[in-house]
Amino acid sequence: MLKEFFDAEQIFCYRELPVSALSLWDEKKFRRMEESIGKVESAVIFLIPYFAGQRTTSLSVYAQPRDYHLYLRELSARFADYLEKRAPHIRFCGFTDSSPIREREAALAAGLGVQGENGVVLNERYGSWFFIGEFFLTEGILPQEPVAAEACMGCGACLKACPTGAVTDPQRTRCLSLITQKKELTPEEEALLSAATCKWGCDLCQLSCPYNENAEETPIPFFREGHVRELTEDAALAPKGEFLTRAYSWRGRRVLLRNIENKKD
Ligand code: SF4
Ligand code: SF4
Repeated sequence: MLKEFFDAEQIFCYRELPVSALSLWDEKKFRRMEESIGKVESAVIFLIPYFAGQRTTSLSVYAQPRDYHLYLRELSARFADYLEKRAPHIRFCGFTDSSPIREREAALAAGLGVQGENGVVLNERYGSWFFIGEFFLTEGILPQEPVAAEACMGCGACLKACPTGAVTDPQRTRCLSLITQKKELTPEEEALLSAATCKWGCDLCQLSCPYNENAEETPIPFFREGHVRELTEDAALAPKGEFLTRAYSWRGRRVLLRNIENKKD
């Protein structure tokens, strides 16, 4: 049953896990969800590939298409229709990124990839260019037991590519991806940002990874159109309706303009 739905959505990497295999990081949020839909028995963990063939330096690849949260909303609406026709007694709730579970651990337990030294999950088909999504279900359709998490080949290319040494720092305090999203910067962070090419997100450790060398492009239409390739003043000052469709909008225009301004002589 899941195969029919995910095939139609061109989502090919997914697996259903029993709820006992999931690691909660926000138990209150999980309980609130159960109050809304009923007791959760399983979760389908799936990968949402977003790479559409172009990499640029100022804007992270994930932020070039429209906001993936909008995609999840559309996907969830289609899944609701699908369940309504085939198994109307099952209720569900979908997440990506703001989930009550640890999504990376879930993807590893589902056997959807290996743990990269750069902190991301690596999939043999899509490299690291994907979001992790999940549908929590009140009745398991065909849950499977988790698998042992594996590690990447440990080639060290991501460590060499990182300009700030953040790959080896568990707190990632010098990670440019995080720094570009901070509202206030310390002088040290300002200097790191000023020396870097990125203006929102940083892909350097991912671009250097051999798993991404031949990563397949996404077949999902949502991620193949409507791109903003570079973070410019025009993008940061776009009309509200357009601006709010972008994943980089969540911190507000001021942070974006600061990051852009930071690059000027
Ligand atoms: S995202 Fe950039 S700064 Fe952060 S760990 Fe990767 S290469 Fe380093
Ligand atoms: S670049 Fe090498 S060490 Fe780093 S995540 Fe990729 S395979 Fe692992």
